[in-house]
Amino acid sequence: MKEPFQKALGIIQTLQQHGYEAYFVGGAVRDLLLNREIGDIDIATSALPDEVMQLFPKTIDIGSQHGTVVVVHNGISYEVTTFRTESEYEDYRRPGAVTFVRSLYEDLQRRDFTMNAIAMDAEGKLIDPFGGQEAIANRIICTVGDPKARFSEDALRMMRAIRFVGQLGFSLDEETKQAIIENAALLAHISVERMTMEFEKLLEGPFASRALSLLVETGLFLYLPMLRDKENELQAAARYNWRLLDSRGQRWGFLCYILCVDSAADFLRAWKLPNRLIKEVEMALRILQTIPSSSDWTKERLFEFGLEHAIAAETIRSVASGENVEEHRKKLNELFMSLPIKTKKELAVSGNDIMKWFGKPGGPWVKEILTLIERAVIHGEVDNHKERIHEWLIHRNLIRGENC
Ligand code: ATP
Ligand code: MG
Repeated sequence: MKEPFQKALGIIQTLQQHGYEAYFVGGAVRDLLLNREIGDIDIATSALPDEVMQLFPKTIDIGSQHGTVVVVHNGISYEVTTFRTESEYEDYRRPGAVTFVRSLYEDLQRRDFTMNAIAMDAEGKLIDPFGGQEAIANRIICTVGDPKARFSEDALRMMRAIRFVGQLGFSLDEETKQAIIENAALLAHISVERMTMEFEKLLEGPFASRALSLLVETGLFLYLPMLRDKENELQAAARYNWRLLDSRGQRWGFLCYILCVDSAADFLRAWKLPNRLIKEVEMALRILQTIPSSSDWTKERLFEFGLEHAIAAETIRSVASGENVEEHRKKLNELFMSLPIKTKKELAVSGNDIMKWFGKPGGPWVKEILTLIERAVIHGEVDNHKERIHEWLIHRNLIRGENC
């Protein structure tokens, strides 16, 4: 058994020793069969949440009314969820209440896709009543049971289907795809936060392009924030190499850029993204406006914007123009390495030094002088050394020698 499962085995064994059933379930089992890196390990059990909490010394109640308790075992957190069904769906969303059941079969039956409805016992034996292994072998995403019914129970599953395309490169089973086309409008009932989570995973996946095309083909894009009028742009977005974008800010920035959104802040706010990310994207887009071509970078501009924002902007630009991303990043890195100081903090003189040397009280002029010095240091006109800078100011007749 692979190490991540091995580490969690104690939880399953303890539950079994007390007469309960317990299995590994969900994404981890799927990823094991796919030979992908194993993410969070989830465990399903016949024990009720209270029973789970009594058995383990360290637990966190993160939603016991829904059946989930976190068990901390050897320093790692595992979600242990009681077998359950989700019978009462309201408004095409996941239910507020769940029914606990004692059978694994029913628990697997409520899961979204056959590839996600496989359980594995403590010996590594697979329990796969819905043909999940076959779906994985054929690289097909297929709902457990009738797709129309499953999507009207919980419309988010349609987004999940397409984010799995983005992550795994699988195809949608034909009936599952048709059901998405027919039920796309139900996505309007889903909270933005849940859609955003799936959409981000989609963009991050190695097959993001394929998934973006499917968002258009199925009509799901019509119900995603601010994408309704962007059919052609989205289609175009699907033709780029998203794999080259390697941060959240770069991906959202690229999306805003390719979709030609009027206001990135409004667009990102509609997706309920955090302010820090919005600022990051705005900065990258501002750089693209300020510096119209990759060859326009100067030491001063790179110092002003900082390497990270510069790289984000150049990555967005070169992915959009089909240029060599690595080459542009390398050039920026080299230019940055050649900067004598990387941040304002590294300047060897402070505002206090300036006031002392000039013998004048503070004011906006101090910042102006500091900027002057900063530029001179960046361009190698003067070393970043207090005395050298002082001499340089004297030499430029800005101050007289005796004020030192
Ligand atoms: P990831 O690797 O991204 O975590 P995952 O398959 O583990 O993928 P989770 O969101 O962590 O996805 O969900 C864990 C499991 O819970 C899924 O594998 C699936 O069996 C079930 N599940 C999650 N969301 C739904 C849903 N909306 N409807 C039905 N089953 C779901
Ligand atoms: Mg998971």
